Amino acid sequence: MRIDFNRPPFVGKETEYIKEAVEQNRMICGDGPFTKKCSAWMKEHFHSKELLLTTSCTHALEMASYLSDIQPGDEVIMPSYTFVSTADAFVLRGATCVFVDIRPDTMNIDETQIEAAITEKTKAIVPVHYAGVSCAMDEIMAIARKHGLKVIEDAAQGVNAYYKGRALGTIGDFGCYSFHETKNYSMGEGGAILFQDDSYLEPAEILREKGTNRSKFFRGQIDKYSWVNYGSSYLPSDINAAYLWAQLEEAERINEKRLAVWNYYHEELAELEEKGAIRRPFVPEYATHNAHMYYIKVRDLETRTKLIDYLKERGILSVFHYIPLHSAKAGLKFGRFHGEDIYTTKESERLMRLPMYYSLKMEEAQEVVQALKSFTEY
Ligand SMILES: *Cc1c(COP(=O)(O)O)cnc(C)c1O
Repeated sequence: MRIDFNRPPFVGKETEYIKEAVEQNRMICGDGPFTKKCSAWMKEHFHSKELLLTTSCTHALEMASYLSDIQPGDEVIMPSYTFVSTADAFVLRGATCVFVDIRPDTMNIDETQIEAAITEKTKAIVPVHYAGVSCAMDEIMAIARKHGLKVIEDAAQGVNAYYKGRALGTIGDFGCYSFHETKNYSMGEGGAILFQDDSYLEPAEILREKGTNRSKFFRGQIDKYSWVNYGSSYLPSDINAAYLWAQLEEAERINEKRLAVWNYYHEELAELEEKGAIRRPFVPEYATHNAHMYYIKVRDLETRTKLIDYLKERGILSVFHYIPLHSAKAGLKFGRFHGEDIYTTKESERLMRLPMYYSLKMEEAQEVVQALKSFTEY
């Protein structure tokens, strides 16, 4: 392919910082100097009371699921149009996933369908901020508070994106970020869990540190550490954090670059939308997105297959996205769809994502646009 769909972000200083972690700090396990820098930066920048780096967003979701005390038989409401990790974290605790339809404009969970899906077993709602465009958080939080439910934001794609000025991931009880190489800011594999209620800090640290109170020990609050509860190992290596630190230092540059490509696609493709050939993404007024993704929607699955092939022949890689979870083998086993699937399947079959990454050149974005304009079978 001449134009890839994704390339991991690299701004230049990553290797220098990794060298520093290895040769100067001589600390490559978790919670080293780079991990501390990254979490302090994000706490300040995103106004989050607490934030812990994790080995992935999947693991941050697992932590949130555990800290929300999800038990076997509980129900958790989420969209079906999402990545498997959103569901896996709750399945691990024995919960049933209750899938609710999405809104066709943002591809996010339809907040007006949530309340009808609540039963006595419901414990949590998991909004997924698709493409870094916020869900309708005021409505979702109001429903959750009314019914005493936890809200766990899957903000894997929503780092440095906002809802009415508040950073995604800081609005619900828990927020989960991803720093996978396909995300806006990366550390190869990695993530973070955010929460605003600091009474979660101690149990979160224990869970993240194999069930020990080792974090307290390192802060000098106790003179030896021991096994105090169930736990796992969710600390990323400081080598990974060193890579992320280089990215965070350049967060604004990365964001501006992505937004420039996003805005270019959006302006250039307006004419195809006016002709009725495609639909472009919609960003509600309450959302400040981070250009995580640029997608278009064509008429149907057949058109999409043809268009993806057409672009491929021209050396451009575009890809479709999620197969709805409720129709997958594990989805049938671990979940059920509540209400009618009006948009989830239909809209997911129409959607395709265009090349979008930090090092994508404007000329390449131009080529993508030209190819889309020259396709005649919409
Ligand atoms: C990428 C992604 C995840 C998983 O992130 P990892 O860091 O790879 O575990 C979860 N949810 C959504 C919506 C994602 O896009």
